[in-house]
Amino acid sequence: MPEDNVQKCKGCNRPLDMPAFEANMRICPKCGSHEQVPVRERIKMTVDEGSFKELWGHLVSKDLIGFADSKPYADRITETIDKTGENDAIVTGDALIHGTKVAIGFMNFGFIGGSMGVVVGEKIMRLAEHALKEKVPMIIFAQSGGARMQESVFSLMQLARMSGAIYRFQEHGGLYISVICNPCTGGASASFAFQGDLIISEPGALIGFAGPRVIEQTIKQKLPPGFQTAEFLQEKGFLDKVVDRKNMRWMLGKVLSLYRGIPMEVI
Ligand SMILES: [Zn+2]
Repeated sequence: MPEDNVQKCKGCNRPLDMPAFEANMRICPKCGSHEQVPVRERIKMTVDEGSFKELWGHLVSKDLIGFADSKPYADRITETIDKTGENDAIVTGDALIHGTKVAIGFMNFGFIGGSMGVVVGEKIMRLAEHALKEKVPMIIFAQSGGARMQESVFSLMQLARMSGAIYRFQEHGGLYISVICNPCTGGASASFAFQGDLIISEPGALIGFAGPRVIEQTIKQKLPPGFQTAEFLQEKGFLDKVVDRKNMRWMLGKVLSLYRGIPMEVI
């Protein structure tokens, strides 16, 4: 195989033996780097087999402001849908984890960098309202570059819509677990990703609002090593726990089992 076609680990830059790597949940067997997981694979490795029932999968973004960068936004949406087979940057639905019913969302980084536009906002808002109505815990796997610039202020509006719906759910005693995956920056970290009652993350995830270069230029100081990694954030108290991908399903099941059977208003 030509050198260019060999997929390399982003952690150690060594070539990956794809079947072994995929069987290892896309964790590099050499250095332990948690590489990105396609959204449908993530669903499969997280929920009880065959239990996922997708909701609102039909929602598709519109070009609300007639935006064009290197190509018109409307074309970008159509092309990305054709390429990925997904309608937007989050997949939401009902599922079971270790037998507990949950309302669950998985961001899809493969869809325009997991950027949040109107559809992501609408689906997360609906998910929180659905979890409230059904009185079930909510889990969101956050993986996003931030707001979708092509939707401008309509994208930024979603931060308030999502945060409000999540807050209402939590106010009624709903349990919300946020699972942060690599990367999680911008509007995602400024809204739903950090609203979790429990905030957990995969190892090595890049988590922050602005990038390190912007911060260094603003505060005119050198940033400490490991800044904006999951481990750094855990040490500083922003995260509850960094959890290895192989233990994630077990960890979620364990937390959910502690809440099972407790009426939501009483939690
Ligand atoms: Zn590696």
